[in-house]
Amino acid sequence: MHREKQLETLKEECKVWFNGIYKYQDNLIVFGQGNPNASLVLVGEAPGKQEVLLQTPFVGKAGENLNEFLHILGKERQDIYITNVVKFRPVKITVQTGTIGRISNRAPNREEIELSEEWLYKEINIIKPDVIVSLGNIALKALACDESLSIGKIHGRPIEPKQGVFSKDMILFPLYHPASVIYRRNLMDTYFEDIGNLRRFLNKKNND
Ligand code: URA
Repeated sequence: MHREKQLETLKEECKVWFNGIYKYQDNLIVFGQGNPNASLVLVGEAPGKQEVLLQTPFVGKAGENLNEFLHILGKERQDIYITNVVKFRPVKITVQTGTIGRISNRAPNREEIELSEEWLYKEINIIKPDVIVSLGNIALKALACDESLSIGKIHGRPIEPKQGVFSKDMILFPLYHPASVIYRRNLMDTYFEDIGNLRRFLNKKNND
């Protein structure tokens, strides 16, 4: 079966599965998008409000960060495949006296991450990229399957993803999540240095 068809089938199965667990409607699930034959897959944390509205990962502000990232890498969005560990928007409702509740994003919890991981592995195993770039701690831990890892310690260099999960040898390249560096000037420099390392790594890989 073609990769596109396989991804379409997986997306439908994923919607049905999460609908059974959380009673989510179909349009709340944001599946990965991009080139099904990409050699590079980018994995973020979870979709936000804009992503749910447009049913596309990394749009709005996150999309602007992504475009900057791709520009430095010398790649176009259609060259790569982009997805998230968690396929729905984790939200919290804050109620202040006298107001109606305000819905905002929150970090996915352990259960949500664990329930999502199998879908992520299946998705990546359809695309079979050479390199997976994880953005932030949640994607790093999910792809390395190691809770003890931390993005502050491992970033900007290639490592091995979890053994026995992926159907071919793939390299994991952890980066900080672009959203986490916006207000942290010192991390911003490191983030750009890391993208430079990734660019050199990919160029070298292509020339080997
Ligand atoms: N948008 C996404 O799709 N994923 C993130 O991790 C952040 C914003």
